Formats: sequence, C-alpha cells, structure tokens
Amino acid sequence: MPRDLYHFVDGQPRAGTSGRFGDVFNPATGEVQARVPFGSKAETEAAIAAAAAALPAWADTPPLRRARVLFRFKQLMEEHFEELVQLVIAEHGKVLGDARGEVTRGMEVVEFACGIPHLLKGEFSEDIGRGIDSYSMRQPVGVCAGITPFNFPAMVPMWMWPIAIACGNTFVLKPSEKDPSAPLRVAELLKEAGLPDGVLNIVNGDKEVVDTLLTDPRVQAISFVGSTPVAQYIYTTGCAHGKRVQALAGAKNHMVVMPDADMDQATDALMSAAYGSAGERCMAISVAVAVDSAGDALMERMTQRLGTLKVGPGIDPDSEMGPLITREHRDKVSRYVDIGVEEGAELVVDGRDLRLQGYENGFFLGGCLFDNVKPDMRIYQEEIFGPVLSVVRTPDFETALKLTNDHYFGNGTAVFTRDGDTARSFCRRVQAGMVGVNVSIPVPLAFHTFGGWKNSLFGDHGVHGPDGVHFYTRLKTMTSRWPSTHTGTSYYMPTMG
Ligand code: NAD
Repeated sequence: MPRDLYHFVDGQPRAGTSGRFGDVFNPATGEVQARVPFGSKAETEAAIAAAAAALPAWADTPPLRRARVLFRFKQLMEEHFEELVQLVIAEHGKVLGDARGEVTRGMEVVEFACGIPHLLKGEFSEDIGRGIDSYSMRQPVGVCAGITPFNFPAMVPMWMWPIAIACGNTFVLKPSEKDPSAPLRVAELLKEAGLPDGVLNIVNGDKEVVDTLLTDPRVQAISFVGSTPVAQYIYTTGCAHGKRVQALAGAKNHMVVMPDADMDQATDALMSAAYGSAGERCMAISVAVAVDSAGDALMERMTQRLGTLKVGPGIDPDSEMGPLITREHRDKVSRYVDIGVEEGAELVVDGRDLRLQGYENGFFLGGCLFDNVKPDMRIYQEEIFGPVLSVVRTPDFETALKLTNDHYFGNGTAVFTRDGDTARSFCRRVQAGMVGVNVSIPVPLAFHTFGGWKNSLFGDHGVHGPDGVHFYTRLKTMTSRWPSTHTGTSYYMPTMG
C-alpha cells in the first residue's frame, strides 16, 4: 500500500483534509509509492496564518541567532545527507552521484545564509550635509512563499527558504507534487535544529494552493521556479496582487563549439550537460551549435559515446542516466523525437526503444541525438526537458551567436574554444543570464546570483547570492541629524551642500 504523505504547518505534520491526492511514483519501477495530499484553500490559509503569527518574533530575532539555527541545521543536513539523497533518488529517479550533487548544492545555500549578519549590513555615509548622516538597513519583507519544480526537489526549495528565513521572513513552501518527500524531511530537520514553529511551513498540492498563495494579502513575496507558461501566470497574478515576484522559467540552452575547441573535452562536457539527469535540468544543454568543421568532429564522438551511456535505476551506482519523472513526461519527450523525424532532422541515435530488464515499467528513455536541426523546427524552438540533443550546424561564430541570441529562452549558454578573443566576444554579446567558457553547466555557486534572461526569468531578481538577499529584504534609508540650534524654515527642495 502506498504511504500517505502530509503537510507541515506550524511545526507539525498535518494529514490532508481535502480528500484530493496525487500519486508519487518510483520512476525506475513505475510503481506508486506514496500519495500526496493536495491542499485546499483553507489548509493553505492555515499555513499562511501560522507564518504570519510566527513573523513578529522571528523578524525580531537578531540575525546572529537566526544564523545559529541554520548552522545547526547544516550540521543535521550533513548527518542526514545520504537519507536526503535516497529520498531524491526514490521519487525523482536521478542517479546517485547526481542526487549527491543536488543535495550538496542545496547545502551550499544554507552555508551562504549562515553569513546573514554580514550580508544584511547596510551602508553609512557620515556628513552628507553639515551634522547630517545617512545610512541604510535591510529589513524582512514578511510572509514569503515558494513554488518549486520536480527536477531538484531538495535544491530548488533551498534556493529560497534559507535566505528568506535568514533575512527574518517566514515562509510557506509548495513543493512539486511529484517528489515532495525531501522538502518534508528538511522541514522536520529544521524543527530539530531549533527553528520556531510556523517559520517554515509546507503545503502540498496543485493550483488551488498556488492560487491561494498568489492572492492572499498576507503573502508579500513569491518565488517560483518551473515552466515558462506557469511562470508567466505566477508573475502577472502575483504582481497584480501587489507582491514582489521572481519567477524562474524554462530554457533551451545552447553550447557553441568552435572548430579550435578541444573536441574530446567538448564531447565530455556535452555528454554531461545533455544527458545528465536525463536532460531534466534547466541548465541542461539541449542545443549544440557546431561551427564549421566542429560539426563532423563532434558528431563522430557523440555518436560513439552515446552508444556506451549506461541507463539504469538511480540506486545502481553504475548508472549514468536514470528514468524520466513520469510515464506521461517520458511519452511527451518520445513524441518530440517523432516530431523531429517528421520535421526532417536526422536522428542519428534513437533511444525510444530502450527496454531495461527488471525495470520494464520504469519511465526510461535512451539518449537521443539529432543532427542537422534547423531553427524553424519545433524540436529546436521548444523546451523538451529530456535526453534529446539537437545539433545545429553553422558556418561561423557570428551565425552561432545570432542563433543563440534570437532564441525565445536565455537561461544558460556556453562557448567551447581555445581562443580568448572569441570567448570574450561571446561573453560580452550573448543574451543569456549564465555563461560558461569551456564549462557546459555554468550554474553559479550560492554566493553568486542564479538567473536567466528573456523568457527564462520574469522579475528583476535571480535567486541566492546578492539578489537573494535583496529579494527577501526591503531597503530603508535614514537621514539623521541632532541639531543644537534652530535652523529655520525653508520651502526649497533641501540640498546638503
Ligand atoms: P511546472 O511549471 O509544471 O511546475 C512547477 C510548479 O508549479 C509545481 O509546484 C507545480 O505544482 C506548479 N504548477 C504547475 N501548473 C500550475 C498551474 N497551472 N498553476 C499554478 N501552479 C502550477 O514545472 P515542472 O515540470 O515541475 O519543472 C520543469 C520546468 O521547470 C522546466 O520548464 C524547467 O526548465 C523549469 N526549471 C527552471 C529552472 C530555472 O532556474 N530557470 C530551474 C529548474 C526547473
């Protein structure tokens, strides 16, 4: 019997009361392993109320003390590291090393947030006028909410709540309904670390929960990570209800390979970025732009390497690529491969017929490789979010750059070359938020900001790093003086000179 999951509100696990549930699968076997309750409007409002009640005391807790809770949590996270990794594998399906990388990347944001007393420091200007000082401080925004995708069930929520609560806010998280167990376990560990009840709450569910968070006047800020159509909806609805919103969205990341690149190195990097996590990463490379003679060199190597890619369940330490998240998503990705063939792209490696002994009902798809993909094809334009790589051939650097810049998405991108001038020109002129030079997955570390451009991010702030602190705080600027003499009245705009 699948076990029933729960919400986590005001420091307690809460059974769902709406009567609506979703299935949580083991993607490697296709079995339903848990049922997740879908929260109602009333259950979501109860979580918001808990966050609002916890806010005054938490916002008044000195940043140093808030950081100490995070230090204790980080210690607990290390002790429970493999447990969290196994929860990610069981519900998401990604392979062992990849799940460890995800949990580590999440933990690094907690480490960053432990430095919050330093990060909250304001600015001070002495004597902006005679006897007048000016200074600034960053204060909590209030109750914040996060809505997160399936592909990084542990890490993406940690892009949000550690910084939000370190800044003195309280938080309501709506994790992906496909793999909610890792964030639920994290909430329990936070309680064990000493986080006061109500500071972090989790309501599982779907649109009903999200819409309540987007419209409730007590919620001041919304962080979202997911697909572009939902991101657009979140951004417009949240803003219309007077909230600050950051909505990180879909991607179609291009990697430009110049003829002078080290082709073996570029092939390694492309294999990792295209097929790691079965292509279910917003920083996956799904388009390789091969310039001139790089095309043949790359195709030869990639074809050979894909033949040896080990697809298998995440728990097998030899597996290099796991299953997709659901049968429905696997079939959608497979249909995109059909579409590419119909559109006239050359399918050089076809992973559609992969069958794994003992895992016949798992949601597996082998790596697929298309050559001679054209910009007017759907497989080039749309986000597939699976292990499907499109190779587009271009005659020169300018055409490759224009192709990258003309795309609807602008999350991450990379250039592989041995020429500094080409790399510099790419970095300066490319229209994307995160750029790699001979690095195919340029995911910024926790102390830098992560975020895309164009239709890959709606709002003014990325996550973590300086943007994270700015998003979760309001800036207040003081102008102060202590006059000992009467200064008189002036009806002119004050100047300080
Ligand atoms: P999704 O958009 O389907 O779901 C994301 C979240 O939104 C989930 O919590 C889901 O329950 C909720 N949601 C879904 N439909 C909704 C609706 N109609 N109204 C309100 N809420 C809704 O995304 P996903 O399939 O879980 O994740 C994959 C997507 O996330 C990909 O597009 C990927 O590129 C993107 N992603 C982007 C980044 C980034 O940093 N830009 C990072 C990770 C994933």
